[in-house]
Parts: sequence; structure tokens; C-alpha cells
Amino acid sequence: MKKQQSLLKVSNCEKTDCRSKSSHIKKNIVLIGMPGSGKSTAGVILAKILGMHFLDTDILIQADQQRTLQDIVDQDGHMSLREIEEKVLLEINVENHVIATGGSAAYSHAAMTHLQKDGIIIFLHADLNALKRRIKNYETRGLAKRRGQSLEDLFHERLTLYRRYADITIENSFISQEQVCEQIVSAIVDGQQQQLSPRLRREHETIQAMVEIYCRKHHQSEKKEVCNDCAKLIKYARKKLEKCPFQENKSTCGKCTIHCYKKDMKEKVIAIMRYSGPKMIRKHPVMAFRHFLDSRKPAPQLKKSAKK
Ligand code: SF4
Repeated sequence: MKKQQSLLKVSNCEKTDCRSKSSHIKKNIVLIGMPGSGKSTAGVILAKILGMHFLDTDILIQADQQRTLQDIVDQDGHMSLREIEEKVLLEINVENHVIATGGSAAYSHAAMTHLQKDGIIIFLHADLNALKRRIKNYETRGLAKRRGQSLEDLFHERLTLYRRYADITIENSFISQEQVCEQIVSAIVDGQQQQLSPRLRREHETIQAMVEIYCRKHHQSEKKEVCNDCAKLIKYARKKLEKCPFQENKSTCGKCTIHCYKKDMKEKVIAIMRYSGPKMIRKHPVMAFRHFLDSRKPAPQLKKSAKK
């Protein structure tokens, strides 16, 4: 596999400042997302821009198995493909690589945790209509899906997984691959989004789930999709979590002594909590229970020096 990885090096950086940009990125860049979201295409361009190596895990799987993804699914079933994929992902031990993963990588928590250790996870999010336009060979593409499972069903099933592991999400339904790469680079280099610790990541997932419930009812958004305003609120909440002075000691925002949200955002969040809170118990019981436990923690006090 090592030979395969080294063969995939992409060189010839076209931008004069790409080396300085890549010097800000100490680890790997891992692209996740649905088939048709442009991971492989954007990955090659990104590697070229940043002077990094490029790795496509679907190619690694095929080289490892000496057969195509579709052959694996046809011969051994989609669960077998997911198992092989997990094994291949867990064997990856590289630095300074852009890694384009298969669309089913996010089913493996072990694999995603492994990739997170040395990489920043970028979710390329194309909406369902864009995917329908782009994917012409859905049935023969070698996807790890159930027999007869529709693209729509697969999209909704995986969306939650991608969001769970994403450090950065790039909406790419209507922009070119070059623009996708520009957005990834600026998001990383400008430090617009930092990686969240497990506690804060959990908090962010809870906010996201509540906003989705609220948006579906009040803004008629599609299943698991949110409108632009709600997407902005999710992004805003994430920024606040990144800067939250309490970090791992954080209780829930409702018990906070600072309340760092602006007035209008705070009002929106309160309305969402009131509506979605009770519904979380039925829709996301584990998340709701963890949130309840977090809310039982005493609100931490900020040290005087940190207040200044
Ligand atoms: S409201 Fe308080 S607990 Fe919540 S993110 Fe802001 S500072 Fe942190």
C-alpha cells in the first residue's frame, strides 16, 4: 500500500504562495461526503495548490482487493465493502496528504477517529438536487448501499454521519471545484474554524439536531436540511463554542453566567430550545440524555484574569 500511496504524489504547485499556505496545515486534509460531492476532483486540485500528496481511498481499496468496488458489492455484499473500507482506512499512516475518502467512510467510527487524529475533516456538502444532476451511474458506481436503497434515502442516512465528523463544512452545490478549494484553504489558513473537543463537538451536534427539528416545522425545510437563516445560526453557535472560555468545563449555555450570544441570536436559540427540547427525547434520546447530564453540571465561574 505504501508504494501505491507514494505513486499518488501530486506536485507542480501552480500558486506562488502555496508552500507558505501548506506550511499552516500541519496534518492531513480529509475529504468526506456523498458520492458526486467532488471529493476526488477537489482533492487533486487541493493537493496541487498546497503542494501536498493525494490519496484516494477508493483506489486503495481496489488495489488492495484487486477488483472494483462494484465487484466487491456484487460478490460479497455492501457490508463487506464497508468492512474492507474500514480496514484500509485504519491502515492509513501518512502526513501531509489530502485524503479523498469513499462516501461510506463515515459509517466507521473507528476509521473516522483514526483519520481525525492526524487530519482535519472537511465535509463537501452538495444538496440532493445537485447529486441527482451529477450522479449518472448510481446503480453501478460501487456504492456501499443496501439493495434497492434510493439516492435520497442514502443521502439522508449519511448526512448525519458526515456532520458528526466534520470540522469544516463546505457547501458546494453551486460552486466550481476551484472555488471549493479556495474556501477550504481560507477556512483552514485563516483559522476560521478550529477543531472542537469531544465535549464541544457533542454540544454542537445537539444544537444542530434541535435546529433541524425546528426548521423542518417552522421553515418547511427538507428532511435533515435547514434553511439559510438556520444554517447561519448553526455556524454562529459553532463560532461561539470555539471561543467559549469554559471549554471542557462548560455546562449548558442556558446556565452560562456570560451569555456570549448577540440578542437576536439568543432569542432565536431560546425559541428553538423551547420547541425542540421536548422533541429531542423521542428523536435523539441518547443526545438528549447527555445534554441533560451536561445541564446538571454546575455553571463554571470565569477567573478574574480571563474576564479582562
Ligand atoms: S453562552 Fe456561555 S457557555 Fe455558551 S458558548 Fe457562550 S460563553 Fe460558552
